[in-house]
Amino acid sequence: MSNADLMDRIVSLCKRRGFIFQSSEIYGGLANAWDYGPLGSELKRNVKNAWWRCVVHSRDDMVGLDAAILMHPDTWKASGHAENFTDLLVDDKETKKRYRYDHLTEEERAKVGTRYTEPREFNLMLRTQLGAVGDTSAEVYLRPETAQGIFVNFKNVLDSTSRRLPFGIAQIGKSFRNEITAGNFVFRMREFEQMEIEYFTTAEDSEACHERWIQERFQWYLDLGIRADNLKLRPHGEDELAHYAKGCTDVEYRFPFGWAELEGIANRTDYDLKQHAELSGKDLRYHDKITNERYFPYVIEPSGGVDRATLAFLADAYHEEEVEGRPRVVLKLHRDLAPTKVAVLPLLKKNADIVAMAKNIKSDLLKSVTCVYDDTAAIGKLYRRQDEVGTFYCVTVDVESLEDKQVTVRDRDTMQQQRIAVDQLKNFINDKFSH
Ligand code: ATP
Repeated sequence: MSNADLMDRIVSLCKRRGFIFQSSEIYGGLANAWDYGPLGSELKRNVKNAWWRCVVHSRDDMVGLDAAILMHPDTWKASGHAENFTDLLVDDKETKKRYRYDHLTEEERAKVGTRYTEPREFNLMLRTQLGAVGDTSAEVYLRPETAQGIFVNFKNVLDSTSRRLPFGIAQIGKSFRNEITAGNFVFRMREFEQMEIEYFTTAEDSEACHERWIQERFQWYLDLGIRADNLKLRPHGEDELAHYAKGCTDVEYRFPFGWAELEGIANRTDYDLKQHAELSGKDLRYHDKITNERYFPYVIEPSGGVDRATLAFLADAYHEEEVEGRPRVVLKLHRDLAPTKVAVLPLLKKNADIVAMAKNIKSDLLKSVTCVYDDTAAIGKLYRRQDEVGTFYCVTVDVESLEDKQVTVRDRDTMQQQRIAVDQLKNFINDKFSH
C-alpha cells in the first residue's frame, strides 16, 4: 500500500468510525478545521491524561496550570511574538497559491522573483476584539502558544506553592496560528492543542536538564507504543533556532507523508522571564531563600501537539492483516490510549438470560473502565468492528456462561481467547488497566 493510500485509509476510518470529522461539514466544511467524534474525543483525552500522569502526577517537581487563551496584548510584545512570530510567504503567480518560503525546494527557490513573488513576512497570530468597542484598544490575540500563560504566572505559582528550583509547570490547552499552508489532516491546523512544560532551573544545570527532558519525552512516545523505527530525534541547526532559543531538539515521527515534528524540546534560557519583568516592571526573579540569591532561572521547554501526537498514535496503530483468508483492520493502540477498553458481546441476542448477564457485566465494568455492549450483528462482525476501533478486550457471553459462570475474553492483538470466571473478570480487567 502506498503512503498516500495509507493516509486516505486512516482519514476514512476516522470519519467512518467517529474519530475525526471535518468541521461544519454540513455547510461544506471549513478547510483545515477538524472535530473529534465520540471515539476521537476519548482517544485525545487519553493522550492528554497519559501526558499529565507522566509529567505532573507521577513527579514531585511539577505542577499544573490552566491559563486563559486571551491574554493582555503586552504579553506578545514582551515575548517577541508581536514582532517576530512570522513566516516568510511567497505567492505563486501562476496558481495564485501561497507557500511558506521555508517549505520550498531549492529548485523552487531559484524561481523566486520570476514564478514566485519575493518573500514577505506574515505574522501568524490571530487577532480578535473584546467588548463592544470597535477601536484597536480592545484588540487582543488568540494565544499562539500556551507557554506565555505559564511565564506570566511564574510568580503566582512560586508564591502559592513555595516551590524551590528546579521545578516545572505543565499546561494543556488550545493555541491558534494563522498558518499560511495548513494541511495533512490534523497535523497542521489553525486551531490546535498543545501540551507544554516550562521547567525552571539554573543556568549551570540547563544543558544537562535539556538533555534529560529530550530523553524523557522521546521515551514517552515509545512507552505508549510508537515503534522505535518510526521515531527519531533531530537537533536543530543554528539557522533554525527561534529568536529566544539556545538549543532545540525535535522528536520526529515518520508520518505516512514523511518525517515531521511531533514535539520540540528547547532551551529558552532566561529570555521570557527577563522580557516580562522588563515590560511589566515586576520583579520576576527567583529568590533562593537559603542562599539569599535572586536570579532569573533558565527554562527548558518540551512543547508537543496533542493533535499531532493523536495522529501519530493512530497511524502507528493502524494495521491491515489477513486472518483465515479474510482482511482484518485493527488499531493496535496502547491500552492507556484505546478509547474503549472492553466490549461485552452476547453470542445469542435472542436468549434473554445471556443478554441480561452481558448487560450486568457491562454495567459492572463501566464503574472502572470504558465499556460498551453490542448485539447488533453476528459475533464475527462484532469482533471486526471492535478491532477496527482498537477495543482492547472483547468479552463474549454464551450459553455455557449461564451454566459455568465463565465468559470468553478475547485479546485484540493476539486474538487469543481465554475463559475467565465472571467473579474474577473485574479484577482481571482492573489489573490490566490500573497504573
Ligand atoms: P512547525 O515547524 O511544524 O510549524 P513549530 O516548530 O512552529 O512547528 P512549535 O512552535 O515548536 O511548532 O509548537 C510546539 C508543538 O505544537 C509542535 O511540535 C506541534 O506538535 C504543535 N503544533 C504547532 N503548530 C501546529 C499546528 N499548526 N497544528 C497542529 N499542531 C501544531
